[in-house]
Amino acid sequence: MEEPLQREIVGVVGAGVIGSGVAQSLAQAGHRVVLVDVSRDILDQARSGMERNLRMGMLFGGEAPGEPIETILGRIESVTDLGALGEARFVIENATERWDVKRPIYERIDRVCPPDAVFAVNTSAISITRVAGVTQRASQILGMHFMNPVPQKRAVEMIRGFHTAPATIERARALLATMGKEGILVEDSPGFVSNRVLMLTVNEAVFLVHEGVAPAEEVDRIFKTCFGHPMGPLETADLIGLDTILLSIEVLHESFNDSKYRPCPLLKKMVDAGLYGRKSGRGFYDYSI
Ligand code: NAD
Repeated sequence: MEEPLQREIVGVVGAGVIGSGVAQSLAQAGHRVVLVDVSRDILDQARSGMERNLRMGMLFGGEAPGEPIETILGRIESVTDLGALGEARFVIENATERWDVKRPIYERIDRVCPPDAVFAVNTSAISITRVAGVTQRASQILGMHFMNPVPQKRAVEMIRGFHTAPATIERARALLATMGKEGILVEDSPGFVSNRVLMLTVNEAVFLVHEGVAPAEEVDRIFKTCFGHPMGPLETADLIGLDTILLSIEVLHESFNDSKYRPCPLLKKMVDAGLYGRKSGRGFYDYSI
């Protein structure tokens, strides 16, 4: 007989684009989730977003969740204090892509969580080894780079930091298995595999628009019709969030000290103008209509 899957209390820090997707997927897999963000408003918005996603998934021929949406969402406790993670033996951190934001979170959860808790860093480019260095549990830190939209993606890029123990990787794989996902393991290096290629591609696509070589629609159309990609690089940028793209390319620039990662001035201007992509209603495309 098959072993019943172990369900955990999982802490999810950050209820933005990715954190709310992670929380939803965990709750759908039957885990209890403690979701932490800085304000009640953000947590309420995340909850409405998850509810909408669960309903839309069903409407558009996706899989029915198998149980009432209220039951799934009922597994998610939303809080504004990291101190509520005292029972979480696994924490997935998805806060803003800035070291000055992530660092104090790890210092705090290292004190609050049980000694055997594993911390997964969901980051686009920040070094996992650097995060591990601010905790007293370096062997229990790994990277888990979830892709957007989390509930629909079958794989997660897992990153082994300098000190990450094999048992930590196994616990992460086991958790992913309960979510119907597999982990693809790579070594720690800024941007890992996915974002080292993706961020550079997106940034170069923004340069093409900036220089007037082609408008966003045509850049994306080439990738879709000629290469068969489901989305072009600028549609992908809008989905990820232009603010997150800018922060990630800046981390790559700083980490490698290589000018090939310098952010395009148009990307900076759009972020300054509040054009973040889907989440703000406008980026390279307009989502307000
Ligand atoms: P986002 O801006 O949508 O969400 C970040 C959230 O973190 C916000 O809700 C913010 O209030 C919250 N936050 C900030 N400080 C906090 C704190 N001290 N405690 C708790 N919450 C805090 O960003 P996002 O796109 O969800 O990205 C989050 C992380 O995931 C980043 O590191 C990003 O690089 C990574 N990531 C993003 C994507 C993507 O497609 N957007 C994909 C993979 C990984």
